[in-house]
Amino acid sequence: MAPASRKKARVTRDASAGSQAAERALKRRAGRIVRTLARDYSAAECALLHESALQLLVATILSAQCTDRRVNMVTPALFRRYPTADDFADADPDELEEMIHSTGFFRNKTRSIMGACQRIRDDFGGEVPDNMEDLLTLPGVARKTANVVLGTWFGKNEGVVVDTHVFRISHRLGLAPKKTTHHTEQRLMELVPRREWTNFSHRVILHGRAICAARNPKCRECTLESMCPRNGVEPPPADRVQTAGRRRTRRPAPA
Ligand code: SF4
Repeated sequence: MAPASRKKARVTRDASAGSQAAERALKRRAGRIVRTLARDYSAAECALLHESALQLLVATILSAQCTDRRVNMVTPALFRRYPTADDFADADPDELEEMIHSTGFFRNKTRSIMGACQRIRDDFGGEVPDNMEDLLTLPGVARKTANVVLGTWFGKNEGVVVDTHVFRISHRLGLAPKKTTHHTEQRLMELVPRREWTNFSHRVILHGRAICAARNPKCRECTLESMCPRNGVEPPPADRVQTAGRRRTRRPAPA
């Protein structure tokens, strides 16, 4: 091999070894994050009230662009009025729209709920399917909703739920770049042990509500601070204060 080719091969080998080492370090850090969240939010569970797979499916559809709290205010009466997939499938759209109006996007959500329930009635014997492939055939159901139902009701870790909290915090923690929810889910599936996928989402969501809010995250109260590069987070005001003529600097990002 010519010297130039040998040098190129060595550079490629070194780069590959470097990126493998970085990935291993990232996995170790992800493991520490998973364990810390498990300790801090040991009892985390899905915040949407439900007593069946159907109720969870409907509540998850309603939770798009809406708070879980608001959904939980709407669903008790909704589930009393429509106890089965059949009942939702044959609902009067105007009445259903009225009942879910406060969750926003009520026309789309009505179409999704009725369409999904018609398919559940016609093709799945009235039962919510328990696998990703069939769930994704339901109108209005994408991976996020399917992951919620599979992980929370059926106990199947088929993916990671990436909602607005998981998307934001994964980026801040340096676990996934801020690209798409699909990309974030793929990275989390590589970094988080499969048995933790569902619980990890529940815990990150709680952490987002309690500490790592979209605006003004409480980094100084955060148990993940030493593991977090705080990507995209402005330094808190105190860090911007000039002390003794010198600007305080942030510590370097962890590996
Ligand atoms: S250190 Fe700050 S940015 Fe990082 S997870 Fe905690 S609150 Fe969020």
